[in-house]
Amino acid sequence: MESLTVLGATGSIGTQTLDVVRRHPDRFRIHALTACSRWHDMASLCSEFSPETVVMTDPDAAAALRNHLRETESDTEVLAGDAEVATIAGRTEGNTVVAGIVGAAGVRPTLAAVNAGKRILLANKEALVVTGRLFMEAVHAHGATLIPVDSEHNAIFQCLPEAVQRGEQSLDDAGVGRLLLTASGGPFRQADRDRLALVTPEQAVCHPNWDMGPKISVDSATLMNKGLELIEACWLFQVTPERIEVVVHPQSVVHSMAEYADGSVLAQLGTPDMRTPLAHALGWPERIAAGAQSLDFTRLTGLDFQAPDEQRFPALRLARQSLQMGGCATAVLNAANEEAVAAFLDHRIGFMDIPRLVEEALTELPNPALESLDQVLDVDEGARNFIRERVHRERPA
Ligand code: NAD
Ligand code: MG
Repeated sequence: MESLTVLGATGSIGTQTLDVVRRHPDRFRIHALTACSRWHDMASLCSEFSPETVVMTDPDAAAALRNHLRETESDTEVLAGDAEVATIAGRTEGNTVVAGIVGAAGVRPTLAAVNAGKRILLANKEALVVTGRLFMEAVHAHGATLIPVDSEHNAIFQCLPEAVQRGEQSLDDAGVGRLLLTASGGPFRQADRDRLALVTPEQAVCHPNWDMGPKISVDSATLMNKGLELIEACWLFQVTPERIEVVVHPQSVVHSMAEYADGSVLAQLGTPDMRTPLAHALGWPERIAAGAQSLDFTRLTGLDFQAPDEQRFPALRLARQSLQMGGCATAVLNAANEEAVAAFLDHRIGFMDIPRLVEEALTELPNPALESLDQVLDVDEGARNFIRERVHRERPA
């Protein structure tokens, strides 16, 4: 029995993870679940999966859940607060940790799992974008196993030889050249600049191919998601950004590719369903059922590929720029983006203000050398304050 801890259990990644787990009661047992405030959802997860411990970061939600569980005579222990999420992530009882928290809030819990040498199924790309080198050094120092869940990175992982997957061979030694990261292009792929300026949060959260949480849906619409994924891929596969090509592929059937020295390109295909990469990562190196629909090739109308337009979607250029800047720049990019997306979702700024504000943060804020976790989280906080002040100055509440 593999014992699982799911961080962000009530979110899109969390619920899809649990849907795969539900199909394999003989294989997985839920040790712990964490979430922010949706205690009703957590209560039903408790009655179905009987975890030993759950954490609600919101103390009121924790109290409400504790009362509810007491009435149902459940044995599940309920803890409260941010610090407990990291404690649970590093606990010895959970062998595998699904990192499904959204944003930099996932940094400390994900690193706690890394430092405890766990098998980590990484969805929380922001944790890697913020801490980069520190994260990968900790993975190696503590012998953690990192399996990418982000569909593109999971696809590339699947296209690599097992020795590379296990970290026993480099991409060069395996004859891998370029990595090709596919992007759907989001809901506004064909919109002109005037149209983009008028995009509303309600339109931006409706992704054409994937059903995801609100933050990553907006990131997909600005293409910042692909920028974060470019940074994520550089760290996961230990390559420079020049070796990664982003290709817009509107059908989201080819989830990404690896090109070899002999010109062969290996691709991973499937219906756009996150349960496939989740099941792959949960079962690896074995294959287990995900519940995803088979890809019906006779119904595919075509597979299109095109270069991304960095004029209309500057976020990809900004992500490359932050990688070139080094230091803490990718943490600034991420924090500025998280705050700008929150302001956009709150109807306080326009869609095109998101990349503009991120660029202002990148060019105007200092960029110290990356030294420690506390330092980079201070930089993260500084970038958030910068965006909050700028949003307030431009549009007072
Ligand atoms: P979501 O908004 O649906 O869920 C987020 C989860 O994190 C919730 O359970 C919430 O309770 C928890 N959470 C939120 N803020 C928190 C905080 N401050 N402290 C602790 N917990 C907190 O998000 P999602 O779409 O599931 O995305 C999760 C992560 O997975 C993101 O990093 C995203 O980029 C990545 N990802 C998601 C998908 C997808 O299909 N949803 C695909 C690829 C990668
Ligand atoms: Mg992705």
